Amino acid sequence: MPSDLHIHTTFSDGRLSPEEVLDAAKEAGLTYIAITDHDTVDGIRHLYEQGLYPAKTLCIIPGIEFSTEVDGHDVHVLGYDLDIYNQELLDKITELSEARWTRFSQILGKLADIGVDISESDVLQIAGVSHSIGRAHVARALVKKGIVSSIREAFDSFLQHGCPAYVPHYKIQPNEAVDLIRGAGGVPVLAHPKLVGDDRLVEHLLSMPFGGIEVFYPRHDEEDTARYKDIAKAHGLLMTGGSDFHGVATRFPEKLGIVTIEDDFAKPFFHPPKVLD
Ligand SMILES: [Zn+2]
Ligand SMILES: [Zn+2]
Repeated sequence: MPSDLHIHTTFSDGRLSPEEVLDAAKEAGLTYIAITDHDTVDGIRHLYEQGLYPAKTLCIIPGIEFSTEVDGHDVHVLGYDLDIYNQELLDKITELSEARWTRFSQILGKLADIGVDISESDVLQIAGVSHSIGRAHVARALVKKGIVSSIREAFDSFLQHGCPAYVPHYKIQPNEAVDLIRGAGGVPVLAHPKLVGDDRLVEHLLSMPFGGIEVFYPRHDEEDTARYKDIAKAHGLLMTGGSDFHGVATRFPEKLGIVTIEDDFAKPFFHPPKVLD
């Protein structure tokens, strides 16, 4: 049976709600799934509060994907099997979400300065339940208003580094994310190492107390996968993988179940939550 340890929902920039993700995962016949929204555990908290986590026919692993930065490189750090009510974790999540809000209003301010008329509510309608508001939401609002014809154009004309409405993103350092995840009892995993863009930096990052590395990923070719398997073995790390599913029609994979890993890779991260009486 297949599993998928890298899935986004509407609580960050995914298009499917956590409930819809569960339905799609069941339909795809997945055994283990991890919800790994950007800088938030709200999706899992939502499922828990709806009585859908733990689930009867699906093994759900609580997760997160932190956006971090070191030496100008974007480094994503996944966390699995963590306590979604850990106070320190939640405090940092709040801080990151507040920084996203500040950045969001700065982006809209810059757009207004160059005569692009888009309001907070235009973007908030798109963002829905997500507190993890980002450029993707602004881009979608620009498309919806007909200001640009595609998400790509929104980034290329306005939102990208070097463009008139670019505002840098406050990011934590990778070691901070690793410590937060460890502190919440979880396992930190280096996400899609190929996208870090420099294997020497990957090796350097792995001197931090990571527990795993994301070996299986849609944008890793066979050679990359083999190389990261070797690196995982050399560092004694668990191997993980997933589809990085966002539910976006133009982004591969468009459906859950197309990119999967074997259950054995997911099993170590699954501990059924204690049921409170
Ligand atoms: Zn990522
Ligand atoms: Zn992701």
